[in-house]
Amino acid sequence: MKDEIVIAQALGGQVRIHAARTTALADEARKAHHCLATSAAALGRVMSATAIMASDLKNPNEKIVSIMNGHGPAGTVLAQADGAGNVRGFIGDPNVYLVREDGHLAVGAAIGTNGTLTVTKDLGLKEPFTGVSAIQTGEVGDDFAYYFAISEQTPSIVGVGVLVDPDGSVSAAGGLIIQLLPGASEEAIEACEEVAKVLRPVSSLIEEGHDPEEIIRMYFPDAEVIGRKDVRWHCGCSHEKFADALKTLKESDLQEMIDDGKGAEIHCQYCNTYYHYTPEEIEGILEKKRAENRYS
Ligand SMILES: [Zn+2]
Repeated sequence: MKDEIVIAQALGGQVRIHAARTTALADEARKAHHCLATSAAALGRVMSATAIMASDLKNPNEKIVSIMNGHGPAGTVLAQADGAGNVRGFIGDPNVYLVREDGHLAVGAAIGTNGTLTVTKDLGLKEPFTGVSAIQTGEVGDDFAYYFAISEQTPSIVGVGVLVDPDGSVSAAGGLIIQLLPGASEEAIEACEEVAKVLRPVSSLIEEGHDPEEIIRMYFPDAEVIGRKDVRWHCGCSHEKFADALKTLKESDLQEMIDDGKGAEIHCQYCNTYYHYTPEEIEGILEKKRAENRYS
């Protein structure tokens, strides 16, 4: 089943709801970074929340980056999503396996609570918009809800969840964000408070086979779907793109890579791919750079 995000409105447009299935996305990220369960859950949750935020972007080139830095053992968790539905990300330490007393993965303890959630929206304008809020519990959902309240003045209910199988793979992942729009009535506020009381973990609902639209209708039967977006794990890096990055190095640095006979190795931290460049390839890059300098 493909990952997707469904966007809906309810209560006469006073409430906006996003529901996402992100199982494939979270599992691809886990595989790319060789994550243990708690790291996989932390990364999958941050990617799910970020993918949902990016589903509102109008232009495929617009981007949202979320960085959680709570000084826990997992280190920095970063997710980036664009308007075309491509999502990538990484976690400082992919080898965290922490379990709470109740048996659930201890994502809050892994991320830590001594730090900030920073969200940057690059909407193709001169200056990107950046909002920062203090991490509340490190459980991700609570932290994004606090971010929406503080940075965007939008009261929100945020649930993000990732279920990891005993074999280490992600069996279900998803997200649900319910937001009150400006000017919402007392009734709309109360309706959302009632929904908050009966919410079930979104990852369990996904695992039971409910699709995002069904999940929205469980809580808002009369919701009107206003948008759908496919999302996927996709980095977009390539041998050619990093060759262009090498070309921006100083000529003397490139010459050094040729002379030592080893060439260069570049690591893409987003998708954990290594690209190797032979001394011959670097000579080609250096020649191209010299030719461009000559004619510019
Ligand atoms: Zn990459």
